[in-house]
Amino acid sequence: MAKLIVGNWKMFGLGASLSEIEGVADAVPDGVEMAICPPFTLIERAARAAAGSALRIGAQSLHAAADGAHTGDISAAMLRDAGATLVIVGHSERRADHDETDAQVRESTVAAIAAGLDAIVCVGETEAQRDAGEADTVVAAQLAGSLPDTADRLTIAYEPVWAIGTGRTPTVEDVASMHAGIRAALVARFGDAGAKVRILYGGSVKPANAAELLAVANVDGALVGGASLTADSLLAIAGAV
Ligand code: PEP
Repeated sequence: MAKLIVGNWKMFGLGASLSEIEGVADAVPDGVEMAICPPFTLIERAARAAAGSALRIGAQSLHAAADGAHTGDISAAMLRDAGATLVIVGHSERRADHDETDAQVRESTVAAIAAGLDAIVCVGETEAQRDAGEADTVVAAQLAGSLPDTADRLTIAYEPVWAIGTGRTPTVEDVASMHAGIRAALVARFGDAGAKVRILYGGSVKPANAAELLAVANVDGALVGGASLTADSLLAIAGAV
């Protein structure tokens, strides 16, 4: 399966940043799939900027309900309507800043998939949990609680919380071990379909370390934060596949 490189712009990006989207849209390398998830305010314009190219536009979060009295929230149908085709669910910053639980992540994932969006479900341990030797059990519990009942339209992103935005990454051995464990959990849960679910690595991926991380077994792509904000940098990561 082709590797998938996804940019998560977090709370960065104004209209002027659309030139970066255009830059990526013009140069998606053959054999690699790419997406950018800008803030909600840019989705529609980003989708227009990427129209006709191989670059997909996604969102960073969604509410599980179809509509209703949820001030400030956005539904799956709204994301589709704006031009998104995928959505990140359960990013650690959402889990920390908005107290999103595994159960909510699961509900939102089910809603996203039912609406025809691809869902990227994020899991990952904190530094304290890794130091305590709990990384595998934490991630296993997050998977058990966050995943929907089918593997359709599902992608997982393993993002150790302590590696996000810090410039630190796990060793390739630790990445290989965690991704192998996630693969085993997916196969146990979904059977053969679990073997086809992409598992992205995320956490301080940049052009300088992308080739090494993307070569690890069961690393089917990358979820990239800081290094996704410029076309040059995101394309350099995609070029390392
Ligand atoms: C992220 O936000 O998902 C992420 C991995 O951030 P960074 O690449 O900046 O560590």
